[in-house]
Amino acid sequence: MAKFGLAAKPRLMSPPFAPNPKRIALIGAGIVGLACAWYLAESGADVTVFDAGEPGRGASYAAAGMLAPAFEAASASLYPRLYDFCLASAQSWPDFAARLASASGIDPGYQPGPSLALAVDDASLIRLTDLAAGLEKHGQPVSWLRGAEALDCERTLSTRVTSGLVLASDGQVDNRAVVSALLVVCRDHPRVRIRGWTPVNDPLDLAEDFDAVLICAGWKSRVLSPVLVQLQPIGGQLLSVRVTGDAPTTTLRCGDLYIAPKSDRVVIGATIEPGRVCSRPDPGMIDQLQARAALLCPVLGEAERLESWSGVRPGFSDHVPVIGQIGQSRVFVATGHHRNGILLAPETAKLVTELMLGGGAPDWAGGFAPGRLNPSIMV
Ligand SMILES: Cc1cc2nc3c(=O)[nH]c(=O)nc-3n(C[C@H](O)[C@H](O)[C@H](O)COP(=O)(O)OP(=O)(O)OC[C@H]3O[C@@H](n4cnc5c(N)ncnc54)[C@H](O)[C@@H]3O)c2cc1C
Repeated sequence: MAKFGLAAKPRLMSPPFAPNPKRIALIGAGIVGLACAWYLAESGADVTVFDAGEPGRGASYAAAGMLAPAFEAASASLYPRLYDFCLASAQSWPDFAARLASASGIDPGYQPGPSLALAVDDASLIRLTDLAAGLEKHGQPVSWLRGAEALDCERTLSTRVTSGLVLASDGQVDNRAVVSALLVVCRDHPRVRIRGWTPVNDPLDLAEDFDAVLICAGWKSRVLSPVLVQLQPIGGQLLSVRVTGDAPTTTLRCGDLYIAPKSDRVVIGATIEPGRVCSRPDPGMIDQLQARAALLCPVLGEAERLESWSGVRPGFSDHVPVIGQIGQSRVFVATGHHRNGILLAPETAKLVTELMLGGGAPDWAGGFAPGRLNPSIMV
């Protein structure tokens, strides 16, 4: 780690960051990096994207594609701005998906809300009550359903469901299709180059050839700057099934469980395993997920299992991403999106473009700036 220390900084500080960098090196071809590359290139920068492996195969490929500002962030108290950011990004998704579809020819499978958040016992009811209070605090309408009303909305639900909340803002997307579409758009773009299988060990190595560096390396970003050492891997496992006959058509949440019907499969997720880098799914945990899903939608119990897989989310302890410039250096970062990286990709790309090329940040962006992590090592 010594080479990332303060002694190494002058290499990046000289010359200092000049607004409107023309040549940008971007580390990490996940949804965050690719969306940023696209937006930066559209705004006139030349972007070279480096990925340590096959581009687009990190957490962004493993995710379930939920776009869930209400469920994920409405009751977050530490950073109320997280909800606003999530909601703004959910509102950007229809346009982002349409532009992506038209530029790539790939349908990103965007489905607007509503989703249903459900209660089957006391614990899940407490979660719904907190969620409703959070939505009210943010001035959002709250729409409760009795169990029978929830069944009217989604016919495959079990009669164990006692109540529900309609989450108008929460939709979903096919994240794998989105990543494929972003790769097409970036590869076709005259100002973007993608270099797969090219790990970057130190952003400072890129300082000679580029005006600025943007770190979007998911959970592995933690080794690319001392500011990011608190970034944790948070493992997750999930599965997909094919239902013959009546399949659920609504996106469903209950506690940590979600059921996300896609065009050709139903995704069921996900475990949350802080500190764990899941390299492959654990069969026992996958069985448990399917069994829990079956308590909510009995038809899922016997459904043919298509795939099970795992991934690693990048998360800080407050679950809030870090987006911005590291001190006054030429290194920027956009990572730590935890469970919301798919949701937040459009607004992250917009904010990064404003920060790097627009010459200034909106006031609220300070809440996401790297300075919140460790002011003592910021320059
Ligand atoms: C099981 C699971 C379910 C999830 N479900 C959802 C969901 O429903 N909705 C949602 O919004 N979010 C979800 N997430 C979270 C979301 O997937 C992440 O927040 C998001 O994908 C992070 O994107 P990223 O581009 O930062 O990281 P990644 O997609 O991981 O991309 C990082 C890239 O950086 C590359 N890289 C790493 N180190 C280096 C290096 N040194 N040099 C060059 N390249 C490097 C990697 O190879 C990788 O391709 C889920 C995540 C998981 C694991």
